[in-house]
Amino acid sequence: MIAELSAIQAAAGSLKAAGEIVKTLVGMKVTAEVQGKIIELQAVILTAQSGAISAQETQMELLQRIRELEGDLVKFKDWEAEKKRYEAKRLSPGVIVYALKQESVQAGELAHIACPNCYDGGRKSILQTTPKLAQRYRVHLCPACGLELAFGEQMPLLPPPPPPRDPLG
Ligand SMILES: [Zn+2]
Repeated sequence: MIAELSAIQAAAGSLKAAGEIVKTLVGMKVTAEVQGKIIELQAVILTAQSGAISAQETQMELLQRIRELEGDLVKFKDWEAEKKRYEAKRLSPGVIVYALKQESVQAGELAHIACPNCYDGGRKSILQTTPKLAQRYRVHLCPACGLELAFGEQMPLLPPPPPPRDPLG
């Protein structure tokens, strides 16, 4: 790619030199026929120059795209390594999530659960507990995609509220 780019740059340089020679020729005393040919040559050189410039732009765009793809590949490889640190778990009442493996927890990392939605989309987002309950299960929220999942230990039923006391009793 780089070699091709410098080849285009070299061609552009040669065309510029040819253009300079033609400019000198234009200034010389020559027959009308030669003058006509010089003008023709000038037009050809200008066309070739603009062709070289657009080829150079295309090359630059391709190089940029390659850099972007290389970046994506690095991210993809990082995620492939990262996702292996999690394992699918079914938690009560039947929600499937991705939990950090025990080996990482034993190595000193804080135990946590990754959002299954984000995980399937190729990124990590840690589910956060909320103060909300649904069917007496703790609701967890994904800060990245907004997914809400209720799972974990079911809270005990609250005792019924005591009857209002008779103010006269
Ligand atoms: Zn998410």
